[in-house]
Amino acid sequence: MEIILRLQKAFLRDRYVVIFLLFNVLNSPFCFAQYPCGTEVSDVQFKNLIEFYTEGNQKTSLPEDTFFVPVKVHIIRNQDGTGGLSIQKFRVEFDSVNFFYQNAKIQFFQCGQIQYIDNSEFLTFNAPGEEDLLTGGFETPRVINIYFADTILLNGKRICGYSYLPMGANNIFIDNACVNNGNTVAHELGHYFSLLHTHGKSNTTLTVELVNGSNCSSAGDYICDTPADPNLEGKVSYNAILKKCFYTGSGKDANGDFFAPMVENIMSYSKSQCTNKFTPGQYNRIRNSLFYHGRVDLACTSEIDFVEENLIGSVNPNPFSNYFFVSYQLASESKVLLAMYDVFGNKISVLHEKTEPKGLLKLYYPWGDTFLNSGIYFLKMEVNDKVVSVKKIVRINN
Ligand SMILES: [Zn+2]
Repeated sequence: MEIILRLQKAFLRDRYVVIFLLFNVLNSPFCFAQYPCGTEVSDVQFKNLIEFYTEGNQKTSLPEDTFFVPVKVHIIRNQDGTGGLSIQKFRVEFDSVNFFYQNAKIQFFQCGQIQYIDNSEFLTFNAPGEEDLLTGGFETPRVINIYFADTILLNGKRICGYSYLPMGANNIFIDNACVNNGNTVAHELGHYFSLLHTHGKSNTTLTVELVNGSNCSSAGDYICDTPADPNLEGKVSYNAILKKCFYTGSGKDANGDFFAPMVENIMSYSKSQCTNKFTPGQYNRIRNSLFYHGRVDLACTSEIDFVEENLIGSVNPNPFSNYFFVSYQLASESKVLLAMYDVFGNKISVLHEKTEPKGLLKLYYPWGDTFLNSGIYFLKMEVNDKVVSVKKIVRINN
């Protein structure tokens, strides 16, 4: 009898455990990692962003083409090459990122093979202290470097990841627990392309953006089709049966209006199961940032390892009116000067002056509304103070 009773008790206990686990799965506080984002906005970055938000979006005639942005993937593993993010998980995340960035006409591609960093020291990556140590040894120049670690701690607190707003480093750090969960990589890339959280610059003070939208272009995330957001951390519930997310907060703005935030927004602190949308306004800002912040100049230099000559390659489009792209190659790390001359040999403009790495490089040059007569011009490339290449280009005024 006692045995039967014990068995019954055990059965009940097990069933309770099963029910309890099922309850948790449905409510998902444990099966989905829910760590915050660690991206911080410095005062200088914020000042630059506001300038971009007010001026950058005014630019018209952006090229229509899809842009292919190079990404270097770094996966941190154990000393013996075990562990780390699986290729399958990485692929799913990468595909989803490209799905979300289609609307901004951006597609990411891998620059070279995955870089495995077999160093157990970095499996738990302590930011910001260890960042230079990690990136110093492995960062690929002129591409977006994404590092996947088992655990990321920012000042000792676990986070899903962090990145840099323009014009910070080309580095993004992702905690593996947040991969295939809440579109973390798309979120961090959003910051890289100038997006703020929908609740604004601060994670601790309430947004001053009003629910009625009257100050939407100068408060919150400065984007008008994302509603005022009181910071959704802990204020969203997910109903697994309806597969829907609900805002559970009851806060009001300065006018006394109840917040009605967008719980699906990828740039919010909503639950990770809920975040699967960017708005047209956010896409517009990403697209503008691509050009305004020179992200179009990112290039996978390892695409051509063997370069013998210093040369201007293609200029597109040519004839041009508002912008053109120049590709050029360097046989070794050199000081480059790209300048534009008229047919009389007068220097019209210096396009680029920089010491750059070996390889195939590209440069986007917006001419915008600057007045320039229609006609023939020349691009001259000087490498280490010697003219090495000249290309004829034609300007056609609209
Ligand atoms: Zn963030």
